[in-house]
Amino acid sequence: MPDARNEEGPLPERLARAITMAGPIPLSQFMGAANTHYYATRDPLGARGDFTTAPEISQMFGELIGLALADLWDRAGRPAAHYVEFGPGRGTLAADALRAMASAGLEPPVHFVENSPALRAEQARAVPQAEWALDIVGLPDDAPLLVVANEFFDALPIRQLIKTREGWRERLVACQDTLFLPVVGNTVFDPIIPPQFRDAPDGSILETSPPSVAILRALAARLLAQGGAAIVIDYGYAGPALGDTLQAVRGHAYANPFEDPGEADLTAHVDFGTLVEAARVEGLVAHGPVTQGEFLNALGIGPRADALARAAPDRVAEIAIARDRLTGDEAMGELFKVIAFTAPGWPAPAGFA
Ligand code: SAH
Repeated sequence: MPDARNEEGPLPERLARAITMAGPIPLSQFMGAANTHYYATRDPLGARGDFTTAPEISQMFGELIGLALADLWDRAGRPAAHYVEFGPGRGTLAADALRAMASAGLEPPVHFVENSPALRAEQARAVPQAEWALDIVGLPDDAPLLVVANEFFDALPIRQLIKTREGWRERLVACQDTLFLPVVGNTVFDPIIPPQFRDAPDGSILETSPPSVAILRALAARLLAQGGAAIVIDYGYAGPALGDTLQAVRGHAYANPFEDPGEADLTAHVDFGTLVEAARVEGLVAHGPVTQGEFLNALGIGPRADALARAAPDRVAEIAIARDRLTGDEAMGELFKVIAFTAPGWPAPAGFA
């Protein structure tokens, strides 16, 4: 919000007033305000919420990530280390990962980076020993960090640049009566457009996520100073690439991203190419991207599903369906990608061969 006096009333009214006072706002500002309100006011996950994530589909997801981290930690010489998760949702992934890590001898202190009060309460139920930080600055600096982020980066604000007859401009959000709509700003962005996109057809859109890169850089500084590794799972592409991937999801269906800000989950596909490049520039070793299907298969989701099915014969079909949803090409297996970053001198994580 550009104006401190503008803090009264529901979010759409506040956004409309801000736009009326100061003109159209960048898409990133609209998306940031909408998602902050959205996550602060509800638990959006699961059948009765708006969307379902991999850890909510099956315990296998968090367990395999926990075992991958424990294996990495073991090969790193079993140092004292912290478990860190960004945007842990209901805490399900962490609970499953911590159980699997404990079975491998790793029982680290737990730190959640989460700004939603509603979800912090859920996380406290799933992982009672957890501590919370609002950002990377609040994380401990005394030992290596084992970091996980699942469907976190897709919720961070993007900006969109659009090619017009006059060159590249930023996509802004305007307001007419009570309707929000995208408009084209006047500022010229041609000098920062990568050369391969300069002559793209009119209407082409190039997305960037400055907060994602900023978070990655801050995390990189910590991993370089303290040691450790990060595993990032999300849907996305090896960019930069052209395309409009902004989407709103509400009640398990697509919605208009400009309607009812704060009442739907706004996301964009994650540009893994840019994140990998940023990590390398900072001095980390990057692994992947590989698809979620490749990653979970390499970590042994097949044998894990078989073992679960043997232990619970009445759940055989359910376990097979969950495995297909997590790894199938038509489900999450292909669209979702996994990357990892390690501090120099740390071993490579399993699953990226
Ligand atoms: N990782 C969980 C939840 C994904 S939903 C799962 O896989 O089920 C996105 C999560 O990121 C939520 O916990 C949300 O509150 C959190 N989040 C979104 N933007 C954030 C921000 N800027 N800072 C901290 N957490 C954020």
